[in-house]
Amino acid sequence: MLDAQALKGDFPIFANNPGLVFLDSAASSQKPRAVIEAISRYYEHDHANVHRGAYALSERATEAYETARRQMARFLGAQPDEIVFVRNATEALNLTAYAWGLEHLRSGDEILLTEMEHHANLVPWQLLARRSGARIRAVPFTKEGRLDLDAFAAMLTDRTRVFGLTQMSNVLGTVNPVAELAAAARERGALVVVDGAQGAPHLPVRVSELNADFYALSGHKMLGPTGAGVLWGRREALADLPPFLGGGNMIEEVTIERSSYAPPPQRFEAGTPAIAEAIGLGAAADYLMALGMENVWEHDRALLEYALERLAEVPDLHLYGPRGEDRGGVVAFNLGSLHPHDLASALDQAGVAVRSGHHCAQPLHRRLGVAASARASFYVYNTREDVERLLQALKEARRFFASWM
Ligand code: PLP
Repeated sequence: MLDAQALKGDFPIFANNPGLVFLDSAASSQKPRAVIEAISRYYEHDHANVHRGAYALSERATEAYETARRQMARFLGAQPDEIVFVRNATEALNLTAYAWGLEHLRSGDEILLTEMEHHANLVPWQLLARRSGARIRAVPFTKEGRLDLDAFAAMLTDRTRVFGLTQMSNVLGTVNPVAELAAAARERGALVVVDGAQGAPHLPVRVSELNADFYALSGHKMLGPTGAGVLWGRREALADLPPFLGGGNMIEEVTIERSSYAPPPQRFEAGTPAIAEAIGLGAAADYLMALGMENVWEHDRALLEYALERLAEVPDLHLYGPRGEDRGGVVAFNLGSLHPHDLASALDQAGVAVRSGHHCAQPLHRRLGVAASARASFYVYNTREDVERLLQALKEARRFFASWM
């Protein structure tokens, strides 16, 4: 079990903002000192461009950057040459959609997604569908907030060329049975693309066990800095993938007319990468592995169950998402008819930071029958006291807004 109260001491943001209850880690997590120091240390001791210089400093920078790749490989149970550094999950998903989709999608093909996708796993496919004439279909979710598996079975056909799904919903918290669905999709010959933006920070992930072809994550949601994310690709899937961006560092040989490309992962890392950010992400992965991802998940689950139990005390509070073990530490809610922005502002007055809006998941909210929601999300530094503070703030907000509701 994690000692979340003690862990708060590793995160300078809390000492610098006394009393802050931060419940918005699903948007972006806070950073431990180990990550901040890894970035500073790199800039103060080792910075030069990577994969270029024949001098010692550049070799040290390259070694630090490639160490980060090995750290991320270990974190995901993958091989280092399957790890492509990108800016974030959005870029990883766009890279996959463009590089694979432009080559393979044709009119009449189907792209199967789900109604609980973040816009990052919808819009890139829409752009590709427009160009190729392929059609998008989306697996609905049940009123409990789980994917409708019968609908999935019916919608998966020989026309399905891609199946894209989130490992964990950023609104409902639902953890989808990725390995099972991915196996079915791949059996039909579909490429499987998993959005791990919420899964990777919270769940122990062994990508090799997911039956997926590609897995996207954002470093800033898993204690790393902004500007560094990962696209993991199965070795054969990456080998078949043409480049997305062209430029320096991704080629073997260039003439004026044409180029041959470097093997993965370099093929997908055109230009100077976000070196310091990747190193910071490697440090974040080490920090999480030292905590143990099983412990992180257990902490998430325990806090979620406690929160769901306590929040049930608040009259007029409508909670979304399933009850059960297949749910991570995300609680989206609405209080009566109050606008979630007003609610989030009221909670902020009490020092409790939650997100409000559609959380980049408009089709999901449409299916829930609301335009928006407020969302509390938990991570390793959140405690039961944080949940208590949320509860008290919600009760106060309800009293304050009683005449508007
Ligand atoms: N996918 C999911 C499920 C998310 O929650 C998010 C961010 O909230 C993203 C993708 C996109 O992440 P980023 O904005 O870091 O690219």
